[in-house]
Amino acid sequence: MADESGTPQDDCLFCKIVAKQIPATILRETDTTLAFRDINPQAPTHVLVIPKVHHPDAASLAAAEPGVAADVLREAGEIAVEEKLDSYRVIFNTGSGAGQTVFHAHAHILGGRGLQWPPG
Ligand code: C5P
Repeated sequence: MADESGTPQDDCLFCKIVAKQIPATILRETDTTLAFRDINPQAPTHVLVIPKVHHPDAASLAAAEPGVAADVLREAGEIAVEEKLDSYRVIFNTGSGAGQTVFHAHAHILGGRGLQWPPG
């Protein structure tokens, strides 16, 4: 399927969450972003911050709409404050080989436990 970046995709899970067609535990919403708890948490705090606009990954988002990419990063920081995380990790899995399963840009915010380096 051609990827029409910037426009909602009928077959995109996260576009459906943005449209409130699929439920999610939403923590924060701005004009450009949505933050919700990951349904399969990998740490005591595991929140996803997504742009409302559809782009397949973080690099395409940053190239097309750098202001929205900055909004995602700012919201990641706000989540860390709200969740009282002293240390945390922001991850953009990019490509299936890196574990990306949803091809709508999203930041994972992970915290609340010790995090190993290098990651797996
Ligand atoms: O980086 P990746 O593409 O694998 O991340 C997608 C994330 O979306 C997963 O951590 C998955 O648990 C989460 N997810 C979710 N709610 C859904 C479907 C997937 O939080 N309805």
